[in-house]
Amino acid sequence: AFAGKEDVKMSDCLFCKIVSGDVPSKKVYEDEYVYAFEDINPVAPVHILFIPKEHISGVSEITPANSEVISKIFEAIAKVTAEKGLDKNGFRVVSNCGADAGQTVFHLHFHVIGGTKLNWP
Ligand code: 5GP
Ligand code: ZN
Repeated sequence: AFAGKEDVKMSDCLFCKIVSGDVPSKKVYEDEYVYAFEDINPVAPVHILFIPKEHISGVSEITPANSEVISKIFEAIAKVTAEKGLDKNGFRVVSNCGADAGQTVFHLHFHVIGGTKLNWP
């Protein structure tokens, strides 16, 4: 079968390399579809990145064909935040998409930040 660009491992993608282990990371959670790890430059006491193992470049590239992993990601976010007790005081989920949002890594990721009272831009 034809492998579209979203199906193959992107050899030049930093987060694909983190999924494969070629670039080390501090793993927080992993299942068949999802990988989560600590952000290298945390902006809050808790700052975890949740990503699909499959390469999707950003929110604007989510389609009916690849969106099943999005529910898996949010199930993982709910599980991990509950385990860390973040569900009590709350937390924020953010995905920057494109230039105006300041996206710097073009492999879909959801920032989970918390552990303190957060300001809103
Ligand atoms: P964006 O700016 O695209 O929304 O988020 C990219 C995030 O990836 C940033 O918060 C940045 O600190 C994080 N990041 C960039 N390179 C690495 C890395 O090599 N390892 C880890 N753990 N996080 C990274
Ligand atoms: Zn990737």
